[in-house]
Amino acid sequence: MNDLTKVDFDKAARALSYETRAFIDGKFVNALSGKTFATINPATGKELGQIAECDAADVELAVAAARRAFESGSWSRAEPRHRKQVLLKLADLMEQHGEELALLESLDNGKAISDARSVDVPDSIATLRWHAEMADKIFDQVQPTGFDQVGMIVREAIGVVGAVLPWNFPIFVAIWKLAPALAGGNSVVVKPAELTSLTLLRIAQLAAEAGIPDGVLNVLPGMGETAGQAIGRHMDVDCVSFTGSGEVGRYFLKYSAESNLKRVVLELGGKSPAIVLDDVTDLQGIADQVAAGFLFNKGENCSAGSRLIIDRKVKDQFLDVLLPTVESWKVGDPLDPETQIGAMVEEAHMNKVLGYIDGAAGDGFKPLLAGGRTLEETGGFFVKPAVFDGVPNDATLAREEVFGPVLAVIPVDGVDEAVKVANDTPYGLASALYTDDLHRAHRVAKSIRAGTVSVNCFSEGDFASPFGGFKQSGFGGRDKGVAAHDQYLETKTIWIQTR
Ligand code: NAP
Ligand code: MG
Repeated sequence: MNDLTKVDFDKAARALSYETRAFIDGKFVNALSGKTFATINPATGKELGQIAECDAADVELAVAAARRAFESGSWSRAEPRHRKQVLLKLADLMEQHGEELALLESLDNGKAISDARSVDVPDSIATLRWHAEMADKIFDQVQPTGFDQVGMIVREAIGVVGAVLPWNFPIFVAIWKLAPALAGGNSVVVKPAELTSLTLLRIAQLAAEAGIPDGVLNVLPGMGETAGQAIGRHMDVDCVSFTGSGEVGRYFLKYSAESNLKRVVLELGGKSPAIVLDDVTDLQGIADQVAAGFLFNKGENCSAGSRLIIDRKVKDQFLDVLLPTVESWKVGDPLDPETQIGAMVEEAHMNKVLGYIDGAAGDGFKPLLAGGRTLEETGGFFVKPAVFDGVPNDATLAREEVFGPVLAVIPVDGVDEAVKVANDTPYGLASALYTDDLHRAHRVAKSIRAGTVSVNCFSEGDFASPFGGFKQSGFGGRDKGVAAHDQYLETKTIWIQTR
């Protein structure tokens, strides 16, 4: 993995060409309006290309194509093993083009190339393979009946699935949704985030090459308020799977209520705790995990452990280890393989993160690491990590999702207060717990109101682990795992009277 250097990646980036048009009904096309928008490289502030700006008219075409494909049965009625094989072929093609996908992802989003190569791309491929394998392994049920009846409980593809995506893990979150939706036989219309369309357009090309029939997968770049809203309100979309902010997630419930009552699945934000109890011994090991928890992907991570809830008895000792660990994370050019923290996704988002840092300083919290903008001369949007101590859990920094490399340290006394503070949040997406005591580990894990509790590590599990939120972090389903398939299936009873 460390074979390639920054010089190699810079050269490869210059040689890269990429598709910027929408993918509708098996073809790359311009938006009907002819409009385009710029996508920017956040590491330089320079334009990478002009992307087709789809709106309601293009959504109309794509949904019609998706419905036609669904009705034709070319995919929806194909043998499950055929769908499996095609999706596995797509995974193989993504692997063959893995370096290119990682580079595109890094250029468009600003994330470290090392992460794109070692996490985003390979984990997305593994996830796709896992869901593909499920295609011919999900069984339905026959219910207990009298001798003269047969009661079958079967699940069928829901139909046309809309997916509206965020910018922080463009390939990853796309695969979380596309893989189970396609494995089940649905047709999909997907809108990537305005800031990061490039990798999904490349995946659409590979999907066609793998043999996904025309109309089954449609990728429509564009704005949320136009293309996203049109998907949410469309009368012929049966389900919308959304990942993004709580604010926009709520719109999708409204769109559904005001249109056809389409199923809505929401994966939203978080303000996840990292809880360190007073019995811990491996301070460096825990510091490594806590640092990764709020710094991975520049902190632009819905499950970021952005609240360190720590027992006062071990706080000072632990911070002595944590701070140098955080400082050792290298901020820099995403195409440098040494870089761990790339560029914030866009200037406006960088300014939002800097605003939280200024706000925390203004609120009088102790800046153990001051954070702030760095490498401004590159034209990129780089932010150094910030750590604030003595943050009360009702402060803005402890309540709102910063989505950047900023940690609020919240001291507590004892395990009960730790749990109470951890749960005192409108969110419930993820959490990490550090303790050497097995009994406490189990009791606290059961007490935390969050979709994921990782113990002695910062982790969301793997592709087989359901991912989603309690409380205001989610609605209606789970990505990953077997449960992800249920989101895109309808349950049907077939009741037969025999003679
Ligand atoms: P966002 O602003 O909510 O945008 C998400 C998507 O919704 C984008 O494609 C966006 O389009 C679209 N959208 C915006 N306004 C819309 C509208 N009025 N109607 C329909 N669609 C609309 O979120 P983001 O800033 O991209 O992503 C960050 C958020 O996602 C964070 O809150 C993070 O926690 C959350 N997230 C959650 C998970 C999870 O699994 N729980 C995973 C990753 C991220 P544009 O491209 O025009 O903005
Ligand atoms: Mg971009």
